[in-house]
Amino acid sequence: MDLYEHQARSLFEEHGIPVPRAEVTDSPEGAREAARRLGGPVVVKAQVKTGGRGKAGGVRRASGPPEAERVAGDILGMDIKGHTVHEVMLAQPVDIEAEFYVSYVLDRAAGRFLAIASAEGGMEIEEVAARRPEAVARIHIDPAEGVTSAKAAEIAEAAGLPPRTVDVLVRLWGVLVREDAVLVEVNPLVRTEDGRILALDGKVTLDDNARFRQARWGAEGDTREDPLEAEAAAKGLNYVRLDGEVGVIGNGAGLVMSTLDVVAGCGARPANFLDIGGGASARVMADGLSLILSDPGVKSVFVNVFGGITACDAVADGIVRALDTVRLTKPLVVRLDGNNAARGRAVLDERAHPLVEQATTMDGAARRAAELANTS
Ligand code: ADP
Ligand code: MG
Repeated sequence: MDLYEHQARSLFEEHGIPVPRAEVTDSPEGAREAARRLGGPVVVKAQVKTGGRGKAGGVRRASGPPEAERVAGDILGMDIKGHTVHEVMLAQPVDIEAEFYVSYVLDRAAGRFLAIASAEGGMEIEEVAARRPEAVARIHIDPAEGVTSAKAAEIAEAAGLPPRTVDVLVRLWGVLVREDAVLVEVNPLVRTEDGRILALDGKVTLDDNARFRQARWGAEGDTREDPLEAEAAAKGLNYVRLDGEVGVIGNGAGLVMSTLDVVAGCGARPANFLDIGGGASARVMADGLSLILSDPGVKSVFVNVFGGITACDAVADGIVRALDTVRLTKPLVVRLDGNNAARGRAVLDERAHPLVEQATTMDGAARRAAELANTS
């Protein structure tokens, strides 16, 4: 889960990383009041979970409270890369002498964290990284050792950051570890004209697997953009919405991933990823089916189950009972294989729902689901 800039800023502040004073509001009048409390001039910043706000006109200076009110009025409601601005943060302006880039990101392939740092931070960092990769230092971090003062000095040295950033680099590692983040990024980290080091922007991505111990972000942080994904999360379903026509339900993440590939190979686009995991009770099946059917893009649904510990007849029972609670409006193609497949198929044959078809192979079922989606 990504945090908003103002949430990242609060975490930085709690961990002793210097940040400008700031306030958050959802109205132009609130912006005027906040600017007054902050001493007059402010930077008005759109709070959306995407980068490049500055280039999109979502970060603007205001000379005092009345202008802050006008600028906030312009920015609130703006669309930045598909994200509507509902709140702005007003920050005290600082006089920037130099802008740096620093991030720690999980490098899954290496089984380590990676520090990425550059003395040429700011809004053009992507161009710098693309044109002059040598201006961006990349140093692996052993997760057991973390960023000690020595490690931080090594990162600063490699990137050409002033020695006084070392303390911030160590504290930023503290944010990552103690807040269960898989990414922390500061761009820009600045040196001000009066020689202070300050974090002017922050991005923090929390590890969703650690959500249970980061309850403070539960309600507030969980503003998922997609209502179906939010509903799925509330029901405890492992669902990701895609933009195709064939709804996909499977047991096991690996099987579902390959089902998406097979559907694509048959000339249709999957509408979602949905792993119902082991168990596949009627309840989970009904929740999954009704979720997928409520996606207007879905034209057919492919249920692909390989019975292992969960036997196919139990899954078939689940489907039959789900059909009693969910009104099926689109064709359903079911492929059952593995443990007790024959019994499972018999259960579905007996139910004989006019919109439910069975196929014996994964390829055959995918072809049929694609055909139904493409012809309806
Ligand atoms: P984004 O990365 O989404 O474009 P930033 O928060 O990094 O947004 O802001 C863009 C630029 O605006 C920064 O690179 C910095 O130059 C400037 N800026 C941001 N906050 C302040 C501030 N408090 N004082 C002065 N300049 C700022
Ligand atoms: Mg930035």
